[in-house]
Amino acid sequence: MPTSAPKAVLSFLYEALPSRVVFGAGALDALTEEVAKLGASRALVVCAPEQRAMGADIVLKLGARSAGVFDGAMMHVPIDVAQAAREKARRVGADCCVAIGGGSTTGLAKAIALTSGLPILAIPTTYAGSEMTPIWGLTEGGLKKTGRDARVLPKTVIYDPALTLSLPAALSVTSGINAIAHCVEALYSKDANPIISLIAEEGLRAMPGALGEIVKRPSDLDARSRALYGAWLGGVSLGAVGMALHHKLCHTLGGTFNFPHAETHTVVLPHAVAYNASAAREAMDRIARALGADSAAAGLYDLAASLGAPVSLASLGMRREQIEQAAELAVQNPYYNPRPVTREGVRKLLENAFDGTRPADSV
Ligand code: NAD
Repeated sequence: MPTSAPKAVLSFLYEALPSRVVFGAGALDALTEEVAKLGASRALVVCAPEQRAMGADIVLKLGARSAGVFDGAMMHVPIDVAQAAREKARRVGADCCVAIGGGSTTGLAKAIALTSGLPILAIPTTYAGSEMTPIWGLTEGGLKKTGRDARVLPKTVIYDPALTLSLPAALSVTSGINAIAHCVEALYSKDANPIISLIAEEGLRAMPGALGEIVKRPSDLDARSRALYGAWLGGVSLGAVGMALHHKLCHTLGGTFNFPHAETHTVVLPHAVAYNASAAREAMDRIARALGADSAAAGLYDLAASLGAPVSLASLGMRREQIEQAAELAVQNPYYNPRPVTREGVRKLLENAFDGTRPADSV
């Protein structure tokens, strides 16, 4: 009998996050029943001004279980908006929050839950994935603060692909690549574990084909279903394990220069992956395999380009002189990344992303 320990020992920590998922075209029909299952009878509906009609429809569906609507959700959850929504929830005696919309709207419901503990029922209409995470974000004095708190994880999520039919194709693509980014970084996360890696890889398999079909036929319900399935898997990955350089860069570019969230993810991802390629070989193999590409980084770039998505930071309005400042900010506050993060390395990465150069495997 061998007495020495095996050379490679599988070792990980996995914590399942509790949430109930109702998925499918027409799943919204279960809304009232799902609110009742939460033990709630006075739901405050939260939406963004652009989704006012969807919010009104939810109020109608809830009937006597609706306590009204707050339709002021905004990108990055400004603190004054959060406070107004919290005040409304208190004033109407809400005992739950129903959030219908993208990540900005889910974020506002989380801000309410953070201080009140109200349960959230989330109905996502983009592919951002916030509905599956215990991560909140709030912006105060131009600074975005984020944190994790079990109270903000939605208790129930209704994924109804019919609600995503109105999401324009271009936004569907970048939002879908935002979900892909969660899957990619989950595969080389410091907390990577076998279950989440399976989920992330499946998300990477589901999303690209679905996005290709959405570009051709935005009203294809089957493609919409598969994209929303991929978004769910991306959200699970994001909620379960820590992210790395890519998310940090997007956070910096979004927070400091106000670049659009999903588009920024789309442009930066191939370059962040190229940066990490030499330090995360197994993850790269899994990403490339799921995409059906020879290289993870180039495969992600080609995917974005083939879907007509932006591939350069310049096209998002970045100026070349902002690269230095972004690189400086991105290396502040040390955080995990498979390859050590250096200012020079990040500057080069950002230059490539600025120009929209197709990445080689490593920079
Ligand atoms: P978003 O919620 O701002 O929505 C983007 C745009 O899509 C908006 O103009 C919105 O009105 C529109 N829209 C949404 N659904 C639509 C539909 N079905 N039809 C037509 N238009 C629709 O953006 P997002 O990309 O969904 O989310 C980004 C925000 O979420 C960022 O602030 C990001 O930081 C946050 N986020 C947080 C987490 C988390 O875990 N906390 C995860 C992902 C994203």
